[in-house]
Amino acid sequence: MALDMDRKRNYVPEDLLAKVPAAIAMVEGSSYIFRFTNPLYQEVFGKKDYLGKPGREVFPEFNSQGIWSIFDKIFSSGEAFIGKEMPIELDRKGDGKLEMCYFNLVVQPIKKHGVVKRLLIHAVEKTDLVLAKRQIKEDELAYKHLADSMPQIVWTAQSDGHVDYYNKKWKEITGIDPNELNNNSWIQILFPGDTSICRETWSHSVNTGDIFEMEARIRTVNTKEPYTWFLIRALPVKNENGTVQKWVGTFTDIHDYKIMQHQKENFLAVASHELKTPVTGIKAYAQILETICRNKGYKEETALLVMMNKQITRLTSLVGDLLDITKIQNGKMEFDESAFDFNELILEATEQMKVTSTQHMIDLELSKGKMVYADRNRIRQVINNLISNAIKYSPDKNKILVRSSSTENDVFLCVDDYGIGIAKDQFEKVFEQFYRVTGDKQNTFPGLGIGLYISSEIIKRQGGKIWVESIEGKGSTFCFTLPVYHIKR
Ligand code: ADP
Repeated sequence: MALDMDRKRNYVPEDLLAKVPAAIAMVEGSSYIFRFTNPLYQEVFGKKDYLGKPGREVFPEFNSQGIWSIFDKIFSSGEAFIGKEMPIELDRKGDGKLEMCYFNLVVQPIKKHGVVKRLLIHAVEKTDLVLAKRQIKEDELAYKHLADSMPQIVWTAQSDGHVDYYNKKWKEITGIDPNELNNNSWIQILFPGDTSICRETWSHSVNTGDIFEMEARIRTVNTKEPYTWFLIRALPVKNENGTVQKWVGTFTDIHDYKIMQHQKENFLAVASHELKTPVTGIKAYAQILETICRNKGYKEETALLVMMNKQITRLTSLVGDLLDITKIQNGKMEFDESAFDFNELILEATEQMKVTSTQHMIDLELSKGKMVYADRNRIRQVINNLISNAIKYSPDKNKILVRSSSTENDVFLCVDDYGIGIAKDQFEKVFEQFYRVTGDKQNTFPGLGIGLYISSEIIKRQGGKIWVESIEGKGSTFCFTLPVYHIKR
């Protein structure tokens, strides 16, 4: 009966408050006697005997948390209190164990004749949100620590490419505060010669979501030279729909590697150039010597000189290959192009190879001849390379097949061998510079791993394609195409 009376004196529509999606309570007088709690209040603050009880009795754990002084202030000043994500330790289960909770709390005074009589408490629990936010902050901090401990520059960008973070290494290496950069973009401190290609490639990645990867020079401090070579990479972070959410990038110092690569290229260029003259001389003298010995009937000496000449021919072609590599690297490989019959060249090249190959028969299957327009000597070099590889990598067999065919626009040449073969994952790699398949078998074959690289450069530059098909242990087929020369009438 007393409780009913209490409820009536609240002058609030209790039915409505019961449905509000917040914890609501009404307390009366300066002892904060509970007059109303909605179901959510009991759920959030614990199922207790609230009605008719003073606040301090219901929540003894608030005594040390300054909650009552907040209430006292509202009561005396008549001003509402608003607390955002307010920490409150709560004995929710009534077992004496305190739980740290967070609330958006509004305490509103209800006055009668200008005097505060009651307080309306409106609380929304935000514990999960606060803990999640805290976790995110902690994770972010951990990632930042991780990024700062890296020897590389680490950066992140928004999906539109706008850089929003650099780790500490950035400032250490570039001497620039990221905020001083226009739009935060690292493009501004690139070596002028690298800027436009980097800008284009980065915009392409931002537009397509493709991985960004470039070698470029950036302005650095405390380095011998004003610009340092870096490998710049950025990977897109995509959501489940495949849309880019963010970019995570790095700058890795590759300066020493680039310098060494440059020195290696220089050395190769100088060494092969310097070797060429004496080797050409030795070859000429050895051939003269061979002729003299043959004419004089010195059989043993002639046989030795024939062998010596074979080795000198090998040496000459090695020096030639090294020179070609440097020409490709410097963009100086030139082509002396003319129109010629493709099959005629194949015949000529195979005849030459037949003379040197004692073990292998070179069979020919040639389709109707077509004209091509290319550097005849360079194409012969490719055919020679494919045939000599076919011979070299099928030491236990004695047959090689050279086939030609054509379509309206292309001629094809394929060289089949029945030797050691190549694993599928190496098909593209064998055309790379200095790449040699490593394995017990392969290690026994001599070579530098440059013949196919030169061949593929020649074929690409002449408008064709080159590829390999192979089964390990069964043999390989190396093919290339060249465009047909259509004579204009
Ligand atoms: P090299 O033969 O001097 O090593 P190449 O550039 O001509 O260099 O060939 C690259 C690699 O490709 C070789 O080391 C070899 O492992 C592989 N290869 C080339 N041709 C064949 C072939 N016909 N059969 C099997 N492996 C081959």
